[in-house]
Amino acid sequence: MTDTKENAEIGDTWTNWSGNQIAKPMKVIEPVGADQLKTLLKTAPGPVRVVGAGHSFTPLACTDGTLVRLDRMGLVRSADSERKTAWVNAGARLKDLSPALEDHGLAFRNLGDINAQSLAGAISTATHGTGEGLACLSAETLAFKLLTASGDVMTVSRDKDREVFEACRVSLGAIGILVEAEIQLVAPYNLHRRTWAEPVDDLLSAAGTRWQTLRNYEFFYVPFSGYGISIAHEETDAPATPRPESDDDDAVLGLKRARDYAGDNVSSRREFLAGAFEQFDGEDVIGNSWQLLASERNVPFNEMEYHLPVETALDALDEVITYIERERPDVFFPIEVRKSAGDDIWLSPFNGEGRISVAVHAFAEDAYDFFFSHIEPIFRRAGGRPHWGKLHNLRHRDLRSLYPQFDRFCAVRREIDPEGRFMTPYLRTLFEPEA
Ligand SMILES: Cc1cc2nc3c(=O)[nH]c(=O)nc-3n(C[C@H](O)[C@H](O)[C@H](O)COP(=O)(O)OP(=O)(O)OC[C@H]3O[C@@H](n4cnc5c(N)ncnc54)[C@H](O)[C@@H]3O)c2cc1C
Repeated sequence: MTDTKENAEIGDTWTNWSGNQIAKPMKVIEPVGADQLKTLLKTAPGPVRVVGAGHSFTPLACTDGTLVRLDRMGLVRSADSERKTAWVNAGARLKDLSPALEDHGLAFRNLGDINAQSLAGAISTATHGTGEGLACLSAETLAFKLLTASGDVMTVSRDKDREVFEACRVSLGAIGILVEAEIQLVAPYNLHRRTWAEPVDDLLSAAGTRWQTLRNYEFFYVPFSGYGISIAHEETDAPATPRPESDDDDAVLGLKRARDYAGDNVSSRREFLAGAFEQFDGEDVIGNSWQLLASERNVPFNEMEYHLPVETALDALDEVITYIERERPDVFFPIEVRKSAGDDIWLSPFNGEGRISVAVHAFAEDAYDFFFSHIEPIFRRAGGRPHWGKLHNLRHRDLRSLYPQFDRFCAVRREIDPEGRFMTPYLRTLFEPEA
């Protein structure tokens, strides 16, 4: 056991990315291979939780038992350039996998707006990017090697142990440990990226057409400005062009300064921001897909995101903006709006239909209780389903009514982990009626 970091963090405190979730696991294990993981798991105190990059805002990875990290288990295991598929370490980070896959002539079809997450962490919460024709990352999974509570490694796919495979595609780590994943990829491609600002009414009247015609389209509404920023990506064969370093973090800190300076004087803030937007220089660059789709986010925040039916989403967005601009002058982070294609995954929030995702952020040092008291009721009235890794207050009964296959997922979970080795009090509130 010399090359594991077993016990290295006993007594240490674990926190997630934004710092709103804290845990004190009794044991942390970080194996270098599947056999070692299997051995270590036998004596690991429960509950056992795997953590990826810790980028979820809910207590999904929190445990006072054993925390498992798969960071040291490598990247690409094998690649099939004909089928455009690869088996990879499920615990590898997307930012490491993208260049490694490129070496095999492969690329992710789509990504979210960061790539710091682990593949398994991203899959397990249905992490998504944007694009009317592009589904969440979980929809790209073809098979898994799963380490179960009983210590068996199962290979599951549509053709083999299908029920377990379907449960694993979005599982919140409640089925077992995803050790390896087989994923569907595409050939590497370049994107033409454009960003621009415009009055939000113009933006909203064009958004539907933009989603229909652009490969990737999303927008950010900047509270108290009346302006939105659009980001569009189109596939191109043209070569990459130089790209200045991103100033996204500076822009967000500029919005914070405008908030701090204006205080409750909302009209002076609106006037200042409108002036700034008149001078907004958008981007117009060409580059490699994974470098353009993913950005860095270094100003910490907490977030609630709901995936809403297309018919109700923009009215719900309007209600959210009205509430924030009337009651919450402390909010300065832009509200992010994206669209994804539907899929058939049991616990995917996009199950059955494409949805529009609306995300509200609060600076990590600011209060976010209004997410639950005022924003979540708007999203729920609009028929939304929460992002599994972002803040929400839903419990077993609520979730059952939102997901047609919820009971099926819970049945597979009970069957494969009857003693609840992967269950924490938080997960029980999601998956067990009596909790
Ligand atoms: C700055 C920032 C930007 C973000 N941008 C986006 C975005 O653009 N789109 C989007 O949809 N989401 C986004 N998210 C949310 C994020 O993608 C999800 O919360 C994702 O789950 C985080 O991945 P992770 O590797 O950090 O997983 P963690 O948060 O560490 O874990 C998430 C879940 O996966 C489980 N898990 C991890 N590894 C395994 C494994 N090997 N086997 C079984 N279960 C496992 C964990 O137990 C847990 O239940 C963002 C979050 C942040 C902080």
